[in-house]
Amino acid sequence: MQRFDDEIRIKGLKIFAYHGVFESEKRKGQNFLVDITLKLPLKKAGLSDDLKDTVSYAEVCEFALSKFSEKSFDLIEAAADTLARSILLKFSLCDAVSVEVYKPEAPIEAEFENVSVNITREWHEAIISVGSNIGEGPAQITAAKDIFAGFEGIELLMEASLITTKPYGYTDQPDFTNGMWKIRTYLTPFELLERISETEQSLKRERKIHWGPRTIDLDIIYYDDLVMASEELTIPHRDMQNREFVLEPLKEIAPDLRHPVSGLTAEEMLCKLK
Ligand code: ADP
Ligand code: MG
Repeated sequence: MQRFDDEIRIKGLKIFAYHGVFESEKRKGQNFLVDITLKLPLKKAGLSDDLKDTVSYAEVCEFALSKFSEKSFDLIEAAADTLARSILLKFSLCDAVSVEVYKPEAPIEAEFENVSVNITREWHEAIISVGSNIGEGPAQITAAKDIFAGFEGIELLMEASLITTKPYGYTDQPDFTNGMWKIRTYLTPFELLERISETEQSLKRERKIHWGPRTIDLDIIYYDDLVMASEELTIPHRDMQNREFVLEPLKEIAPDLRHPVSGLTAEEMLCKLK
């Protein structure tokens, strides 16, 4: 994702809340201090001088005051994480949010100035390919989209036109319907993979034959320009450059995106394949 250096910073927001492992902390409560840093493009607001082109820090403070104290957490890690994620969801102009939570009255048997945790959550862009060849393909893909894009932390940005393709690998099976989504997400790649299997499972994917008929198959093609390889998850998808049904929709929704290893666009990979 394109990143900006512009920031809005809120420092030392004082919030009374009931976070802590000890029963007395949950009962009596204590003061916390919260720093919030929003990363967002501010060039437009700088030129227009108009509040609607930025995020109102007053609104962020008001939101943080109520969000941070509405629930009691054992850990300031959890309180900070929840606040960072909810700011990211609420103020959609933000690309990233850092929250530092200070606990100056923490129950520690020592003299100390402060303890704090700092958590950053940010939007990533990912490309997800989707295919189906059992039942009604387009309806299956719409159903998958509703489930997948309905998870917290996943937002659909763009979708490719659906295409019909001949089966790949094991060829004695019905044609496939293939699609592709560009999403933004604050989930990690492995969290995204979990949401994928939850989506596949709720559409009752059957895995009888490798590459065989399936109600639905979701794959992570790209996640920003991340390169990673493990048994469970390889990004970019290890076979994408060999699959026309991946490259065609990719060419449609992300023509300028380059494979982080080969440096090729979807069109260039298609040329090599043909
Ligand atoms: P394919 O998607 O190649 O047709 P499968 O869907 O049956 O085959 O592969 C499933 C396994 O592939 C998943 O359990 C997952 O752990 C692993 N995998 C590795 N890389 C990816 C990726 N980029 N996206 C989705 N699954 C992946
Ligand atoms: Mg798959």
